[in-house]
Amino acid sequence: MSVSSHAGKFSAPPTDAAGRIPLIGLSLAEMQAALALHKLPGFRAKQVWHWIYQRGARDFASMANLPKEMRELLAEKYSIARPKVMTEQRSADGTIKWLLSMSDGQLVETVFIPEAKRGTLCVSSQVGCTLTCKFCHTGTQPLVRNLGAHEILQQIMHARDILGEWPQSGEKQSNEGRDLTNIVMMGMGEPLYNYDNVAGALKICMDADGLAISKRRITLSTSGVVPQIRQCGEELGVNLAISLHATTDEQRSAIMPINNKYPLAELLEACRTYPGVSDIRRITFEYVMLQDVNDTDEDAKRLTELLRGIPCKVNIIPFNSWEGSGFTCSTKDRIDAFARILENSGYDAPVRRARGRDILAACGQLKSASLRVKKVHAEITEK
Ligand code: SAH
Ligand code: SF4
Repeated sequence: MSVSSHAGKFSAPPTDAAGRIPLIGLSLAEMQAALALHKLPGFRAKQVWHWIYQRGARDFASMANLPKEMRELLAEKYSIARPKVMTEQRSADGTIKWLLSMSDGQLVETVFIPEAKRGTLCVSSQVGCTLTCKFCHTGTQPLVRNLGAHEILQQIMHARDILGEWPQSGEKQSNEGRDLTNIVMMGMGEPLYNYDNVAGALKICMDADGLAISKRRITLSTSGVVPQIRQCGEELGVNLAISLHATTDEQRSAIMPINNKYPLAELLEACRTYPGVSDIRRITFEYVMLQDVNDTDEDAKRLTELLRGIPCKVNIIPFNSWEGSGFTCSTKDRIDAFARILENSGYDAPVRRARGRDILAACGQLKSASLRVKKVHAEITEK
């Protein structure tokens, strides 16, 4: 499916049920243009922007330095509301999973994973996924739609609300003391098939006057949509993670149909030439361990050859099984042996440990009761 074919019926609705246009997700210039339609000068948009992204305002009424009529006008025509929280689950390991309902009732999951020195929010880019990777539960659900830039940002802003991380009046945005420090676009969906909305959201996320989360702390994971990889590096400069999962075209095409469109050689070339890639800005390759599919010593050796010359590390992910998948996770011994071969060739190859298993927040664990419920990928690197 082409990127452009995701427009139109796959898009987020342009307004909420009450006909209000989302202001979240507009660039400052776009916000200025929108408010100019009401004869409001540029500095007013700057004030609104400041309230939304630096103070976390959830309604216009609280924007104390705006004239009352302006606040009323904005409240009538525009929305800065958060999604509705359908459920919140907290794992014994501290992981929090929210099921959020967007303005049209579409459901999206977002997972917060606290660690010792950082906290990572796993953000969704689509409801469902058009790709059909065989080991991924999301791949069995038809795409319902792309998320809008506002809905991607709303997931992050909601987490900040709950974690109480908006600066007080006069305070500068800073990572100091924040629990939510990192963003991974690793929830449901293929972010590079919803590039414009993901890019719009991430630009505001990394803007020092926006949510002020540095691009060094943002990672985008893709199954390998080659044409958008370079664009992502050039325009956004975020960290790149590639769902590799196989070492030959035959093997990869069998479990990831996107490989028929963008085979390994093209994908790895895009990685080799990813703008800004270096030994201090390495690409992460994700490799899910599937018994008797991709987990032999030969696979590990082939992987060391394939990745040669690319500044990278390999995240080894034990497969999270789901009913009817037809796959089994490799044994612990096999996973360790696989990792050892990579490490002996000089690669960092940590084995990820699933987080939030008890609340079904780990990769592939969520079984959707309806087409609208999604699964998330909440895993972190084993320390
Ligand atoms: N669509 C993007 C973003 C999702 S990231 C991508 O595919 O990269 C989620 C990660 O979890 C991907 O690396 C995906 O391949 C992996 N994954 C999917 N299903 C899994 C499962 N059942 N067990 C372990 N990892 C899985
Ligand atoms: Fe989509 Fe990623 Fe799952 Fe593949 S692994 S089906 S691209 S979400």
